[in-house]
Parts: sequence; C-alpha cells; structure tokens
Amino acid sequence: MIIVLKKDATQEEIDHIVEKIEATGLSVLISKGKERTIIGVIGDESLLETVPLEALPGVEKAMPVLKPYKFVSREFKPESTIIEVEGRKIGSEQIQVIAGPCSVETQALLMNCAERVKESGANFLRGGAFKPRTSPYSFQGLGEEGLKYLGKAKEETGLPVVSELMDPRDTELLCEYVDIIQIGARNMQNFRLLTEVGKTGKPVLLKRGLAATVKEWLMSAEYIASQGNTSIILCERGIRTFETATRNTLDLSAIPVLKEETHLPVIVDPSHATGKWDLVAPLAKAAVAVGADGLMIEVHSDPENALCDGAQSLKPDKFADLMEELRAIATAIGRTI
Ligand code: PEP
Ligand code: MN
Repeated sequence: MIIVLKKDATQEEIDHIVEKIEATGLSVLISKGKERTIIGVIGDESLLETVPLEALPGVEKAMPVLKPYKFVSREFKPESTIIEVEGRKIGSEQIQVIAGPCSVETQALLMNCAERVKESGANFLRGGAFKPRTSPYSFQGLGEEGLKYLGKAKEETGLPVVSELMDPRDTELLCEYVDIIQIGARNMQNFRLLTEVGKTGKPVLLKRGLAATVKEWLMSAEYIASQGNTSIILCERGIRTFETATRNTLDLSAIPVLKEETHLPVIVDPSHATGKWDLVAPLAKAAVAVGADGLMIEVHSDPENALCDGAQSLKPDKFADLMEELRAIATAIGRTI
C-alpha cells in the first residue's frame, strides 16, 4: 500500500497515520519529496482492512501497489534518488566513475592504480578482497588483508572505496573499510545477504544477476529497501545470451527502462559486460549517452600479470583517454563527469 498525503499534511497528521498503521503490527517507510510525502507500508497489507486510511486527516489517497516492488518504484518516490557518499552525489547530473583493479593484489599495485585513476578524475576506487570465482582453484582474494590495503589507499588518495561482500558473516568487517558494499552478479538473489546489507544502512551497489530480468533485479533491490535501506545503486553488467563474441551482452536498454520503473540511480560496468579491454571505451560512451548515472571500470597497471580479469582491464593511460572522451559526451547531454 502506498499512501499519498495531501500537500499541506502536518507532521502531527503524519504521526497519527503512522501510529494507526503501526498499531496493526505493520511498519512504514516514509518518502519526503519536494512536493509531498508518501508513506509505504511494509508487511501483510490485509491487516489494514480495518483501518479507513482515506478517512484519516492528511491522507489524499491510499493505493494498493500493482507492481511487485514498492519502495524502489517511481510510484513510491517520483523524484530520482541521489546517494551522497563523502560529497560525491550518485544519481546527480555529475556522472560518477568507480575505477580500480578487479581484485586487490598488493598494496603497491593498488596504490599506483588509485593514484592514477584519481588523476584522471575517477570518483571512487574499486577492488575486490573477497572474489567470487567460477573455479575454486582460482585466486579467491586477500580477504581482510585486501580490505586493509583498500583502507590505506583511501587514506592516501581520499577516494571512497567500493568492494564486494559475499558472505553475511563478513558484513561487519567489510563495513569497517568500505563506503559502498558491492553485491556481485552471482549473489543478486542471495536473499539472506540482501537482507543483511539492508540492515547496515550503508549504500549498496547491486549488480544485475547473470540471467536476471529487470523485474527480478528490482525485487532483489526491494529486499534491501524493505529493511529500511534505500541507498541502492543498480549496476548493469551484461547478461547471458546466445552470443559468445563478448563475455556477456550489455543490455543498454535496461537503463532507460529502469529510469522509468525506479527512482534508484543506475550505473554500467562495461568491463564485465564485454570481457575485452578494447570494447570497454565504446560501451562506456554508449552507457553515458543512454542515461547511466555512472560507470564501474576495471583498471590495472599491469593487466598482463593481473590475478583476475586482466583481459578486460584498461591500463591507466587508456583510462585517462576514455575519461577525456566521456567528458565530451557528458557535456552533449547536459551532464558533467
Ligand atoms: C566484480 O565487479 O569484480 C565482479 C565479480 O563482477 P560481477 O559480479 O558483475 O561478475
Ligand atoms: Mn572483475
């Protein structure tokens, strides 16, 4: 149920409505927009049958939600969400770029990468400490040691850090070091993990599952939002199709579709989408042109010897060139980068 309040609803009226709903055992999530306040109800809505919502002072209308997702929908919050992390505004007119190696390998490599991407204008540093690998024999990441390297890189460069969480048991540890929790494609429907990150209140970067529909993806975001955490960034990273020329197929149409369906910011990862470094720049440019709020790009100073995803990693010089080219596209569509 979504309850749209009158433009002039007072705080007293809002409190009274919330009290009535909570008395049934349900809870609420409140979205205060520029124009009006909207109250979303969490839980089994049949409990509301005895509450005459539209008779309560301050209520304009009470609407059952037709879509399976509620808190992430534009119906619930017509204005686009801007997530602010250390002064960087994801979802604003400024396109945000997250760059760095696939995985954290050594402190020196990470530091070099962080400095170089910062020079080129990246806003966030990425690096996996817990790596989801298809083979159990591949490099699995440095774990806590990797997180410490990320913390140090942040200290030196000032770049906030994004890193993946794979196991709910590592939530507290990861939160000590990272500014945005990444949920990887393979865990998009790990509902325990989603619930756990929903409880943290930290911004979450939710990657699209390997074969997930937009609806399934938004339902996963709803899991996080239903815990009271609506700081969610959706990341399109390519989906499985019959095509084998690229690692995945980048679904660029998902960006305008999501812009209609949800108020959440949407970014694109052209590195995992293509699997090939020379395809990263053209697709990054296309992503910005089609309305993405940001990019996640793998950058490595020595891709030939990278422990993970070297083939799709840009060298720092190539990343610098790409940032220049992106600037022109951003300007053409009235945004900055
Ligand atoms: C990653 O970003 O390092 C990663 C593993 O991506 P994905 O979950 O999209 O495969
Ligand atoms: Mn990778």
